[in-house]
Formats: sequence, structure tokens, C-alpha cells
Amino acid sequence: MFKISKINCINIGLPLIDTIHMSNVTMTKSNSIIIRIQNNYGEIGWGEAAASLSMTGESAPGMIAAINFITENITGKDIEDIEDIYKLIATSVYGNFAAKSAIEMALIDLLGINQKKSFYQLIGKKIRHELPIIWRISGSEKEIQNALEKRDEGFIAFKIKVGAQDLSYDLKRAENLRKKLGDGIQLTADANGGYCPKDAITFSKKSHSVGLDYFEQPVAGTDLYTMKHCNKISNIPISADEGIHTMHDLHKHYQMKAAEGGSLKLIKFGSITSLIQATKYMEEKKMHINISGKAGDSSISAAAIGNISMVLSKLDWYSNVSIQYLGDDIIKVPHQIINGKLKVTEGYGLGLTVDEEKLEYYKI
Ligand SMILES: [Mg+2]
Repeated sequence: MFKISKINCINIGLPLIDTIHMSNVTMTKSNSIIIRIQNNYGEIGWGEAAASLSMTGESAPGMIAAINFITENITGKDIEDIEDIYKLIATSVYGNFAAKSAIEMALIDLLGINQKKSFYQLIGKKIRHELPIIWRISGSEKEIQNALEKRDEGFIAFKIKVGAQDLSYDLKRAENLRKKLGDGIQLTADANGGYCPKDAITFSKKSHSVGLDYFEQPVAGTDLYTMKHCNKISNIPISADEGIHTMHDLHKHYQMKAAEGGSLKLIKFGSITSLIQATKYMEEKKMHINISGKAGDSSISAAAIGNISMVLSKLDWYSNVSIQYLGDDIIKVPHQIINGKLKVTEGYGLGLTVDEEKLEYYKI
């Protein structure tokens, strides 16, 4: 058992190698909230969550306010196991799932360090050793050349960000990429909810013929009727991302046949316990599963996604991390992606050492 002694919250922006063009946002650098929690033994745990107004509606100042509020209420509390952490955070504040997920991540990391266990040992049983990572294709001038290089390195899954340009241009991009990359890879498109219903339906109709394997979030997360229509007329599965934040959302998509799979993120579900519960539901309903961070996340988030991915029995739409697009990272030995697979550093908790000088340097 340990006591929560001190919580720090740091707002950072990391450089990206290339600008990311999505339907609703253009990113030139990341924006993440980093959490540092110290216990009464002087041990330190780390957590991270992206500030994403387009995904969760939480801004960095709003997350900081929520974290300060939670900090006041949980400092001095005793933690014995993961159940204590879940109960403490789930009831700490209404909503604010990204803020809560960052604190939860740091507390689980700290629990692992304190109990000399890996993060994954605290949340489940290690089932998979290989963690294929999706390569994101987001509108850079060299996107085809980069994708070919990544395929040759060993990446087996690619996701094209669509919706920032004209519909026919995006369909052509998908067709070209399938031709160049060949049939042996998983190729998907993600509109991040950016198409109007008419364009979403047109894209869905043509998605199979241009060589896509599934199509993610064609319209806004709240428009389940158009999602259902897209899923009905498309010859490939429709995936939900922005539309799924809770078990209720997931159940509704399943019931309405509005999606056949989805992308799950900690910043949406607010806790690892809830996210794993969602994957069990999806597996039971034969839905496809992807676990994902947010564009621009550092190695802290990547380590958590890697550990969660290791314990899931189904992960047929693979995992997304962002460290491969970062110009710099904040941990001393950054995680590696080798042959398109994430290598998770073994150690207690998340098994990472944060470079606090860099953290200071990238502070916003
Ligand atoms: Mg998505």
C-alpha cells in the first residue's frame, strides 16, 4: 500500500515530423497533459492524455482545471490495488474522461513500481507478444513513398486520413495506395466524422472498389442514422471512433448496426477498466477492435497502449501509437517500433524513465 503524496500536471507540445491533415484539424505539434504522481516512498508514476477538443471536447486549460480539482480530493489517499484506483478516479469528477485517464495511468504506473509488477500484470494476462502498429497516412507530399518504405520495414496496417480534401481526390488516394502497397496489408480510411451525409454515403459505396478494408467514422459521432446507412450500403465494415465514448454508445452502435467495429481510446473511456470491459463486449458481439492513442502522444501513452494491447484476446484492427511521427520524445530511452511492431520496454509499471529536462523544455 502507498499514499498519494504529490501530483503535478504539465502541459506540453512536442514537435511532429510532418504536419497531420485530418478532416477537422491540422496538427503541426502535439498537445498533451503529462501527470507526475509521487507516493510516500518517493516513487514516481507517469500518465498522459491528449487535449483534443475535436475528440473529447476537453481543452488543455479545462483538463488542468479538472486535474487540479481531482488532485485536491485524492492527495493523501491510500492505494492498495487497481480496484482502489478505479473507484477513486471514476467517482472523482463528472465527465472529463481524458483528464481522469491521465491520472489513472500514472497511478497504475506507480502501483506497478511499488509492487514490482509490470503494468500489464496489473490489468490482465499477457496474451500477445507481437504488437503490429498502424501507419497513418495523413496528406504529406511524400505519403505514398513513406507508406511504401513502411511496408518494406514490416508495417502490415495503414490508415488514410480523409476528408481534408475533395472526396474524389481522397478516393483516388485510396485506390493508388492499394495499388502500390499490394493486397497483403490492411488498408483503411478515417474521415474523423468530417463528411456530410451525402459525401459519406458516396465514399462508403465506393470504399470496397478502391481497395479499403474498413472505413472509420464517415460522419459526426452523433449521426447514427447516416452511420447505419453507410454500413448497409458499404461492402466493407464501418468503424466508429468519435461516436463511441461509453458502453452505452457502443451498445447503441451495435443495436442499430451503425458500426461493425470501433476504435477505443483511453481519453474517451476515462479508464482502463472501462476500456477492457468494452473490448469484451465487442468480442462477444463479433465486432472488430482497434486500440488507439491520439495523434501526437508521447512514449508514456504508447507504453500504456502497448501494455493494454498485450492483454486483449481480440485486436484484429491492431493498435495506434504516435511516437513514430514525433520529432522528439520525453523519455530517456524512447520506445521502438521495429518491423512495424511496437516493442514495449519491460520493467515495473510502464517501465520508462522520463527526461524531466525535456519535459521542462517542451512545457507550454
Ligand atoms: Mg479515428
